[in-house]
Amino acid sequence: MDDPLAKLKNGTLKLYALEKELPPEEAVRVRRAYIEEETGADLAALGTFSIGIDRVVKRNIENMIGAVQVPVGVAGPLKVKGEYANGTYWIPLATTEGALVASANRGCSAITKAGGADVRIIKDGMTRAPVFAARDIVHAREIADWAAAHTADLAAAAEKTTARGKLLSITPYIVGTNVFLRCAYDTKDAMGMNMVTIATAEIADRVEAATGARLIALSGNMCTDKKPSAINMIEGRGKSVVAGVHLSNDLIETVLKTDAKTLAEVNYRKNLIGSVRAGALGFNAHAANIIAALYLACGQDAAHVVEGSSCITTIEATDDGAYVAVTLPAVQVGTVGGGTGIDTQAACLSLLGVAGGGEPEGANAKAFAEIVAAGVLAGELSLLGALAANHLARAHKELGRG
Ligand code: NAP
Repeated sequence: MDDPLAKLKNGTLKLYALEKELPPEEAVRVRRAYIEEETGADLAALGTFSIGIDRVVKRNIENMIGAVQVPVGVAGPLKVKGEYANGTYWIPLATTEGALVASANRGCSAITKAGGADVRIIKDGMTRAPVFAARDIVHAREIADWAAAHTADLAAAAEKTTARGKLLSITPYIVGTNVFLRCAYDTKDAMGMNMVTIATAEIADRVEAATGARLIALSGNMCTDKKPSAINMIEGRGKSVVAGVHLSNDLIETVLKTDAKTLAEVNYRKNLIGSVRAGALGFNAHAANIIAALYLACGQDAAHVVEGSSCITTIEATDDGAYVAVTLPAVQVGTVGGGTGIDTQAACLSLLGVAGGGEPEGANAKAFAEIVAAGVLAGELSLLGALAANHLARAHKELGRG
């Protein structure tokens, strides 16, 4: 065979078609060499990696030239008392942000010493919301009414495309001549975006055929995927998860170096009032930090950090300490599909005991979502604790001066 690099240069071979001519490792090496020659950049560091790429180049990436390595640290042990995750975990965090793992570690310590975080999934449904055009507003209502009257038929059609997915509901939204049908599914252990997109295409076909609606886009942005949105905050998307822990006064003093009243005040003025005044959709200190690091380590779709960051952190002072909770309306995670099967990511899921399909189906993704929420709680406790401790230290200093 002619030199593939020469063929790339003379235009007889497309860059994306290298895998058709060469084994994956070789294709990646030649593509990297070509880009190095074209740009003059030294990309050798991208060429050393441990992941097997046969599957990766077919399912996870196009035009692969190598891999970026992100360091992974562990925080823990973290005691989680969920309905699916019940035990003590070392949570893998992939990050380049120094001090993040140390901070999460301190939060894990507080939670575990307190006896563990309670975690509950309060809602579960991955959504896709196609947008249809109606002739006029009367037609728009007819389309929505037809979908409501035929939900069982639409579910049967959708479920022909998947062995495991189940349609849970179709919620219509009308804006003038625009009809959005927000379809929610139980996707078991898959995060489910591909699954529900394929299933919803069947629904859309039937709606068009029966009502004369015109499908404009299979995703009409009311899903809402990878954008901050009030609908996800209110209705949830993926798994809506709540984690909470009661910390005694003694624990708040010894681990977080502050007191319950100061901790609650920092949360109120910063996470709640500050976020309201800013018009933020996240009412937390740094939920996105833990979500991003966990998602990267565990092969999740990193863009879902957007929705994951819509977390509300609440703290109430109690008679003997404080109750701290995080409410995450949109945790979109899976333990099968997407990037979860890549060697290093699968290893991180294995560390948590949630790799692959659960028994029963869905149990692993739910356990993972519970661990994510407990991890976010650890991150919140540590950062809020640090802020409160500084605040307290300053107050003591000022009092000392007075
Ligand atoms: P997927 O990679 O398409 O794999 C999911 C499939 O795995 C399911 O459809 C299911 O087949 C099968 N499966 C095997 N065991 C399972 C179990 N225990 N539970 C559930 N499913 C099981 O994954 P996905 O989660 O649907 O989609 C994730 C990917 O979508 C990510 O790569 C993400 O980046 C990408 N994504 C896509 C879109 C889009 O619009 N298409 C948008 C955002 C992200 P059956 O269905 O036959 O049961």
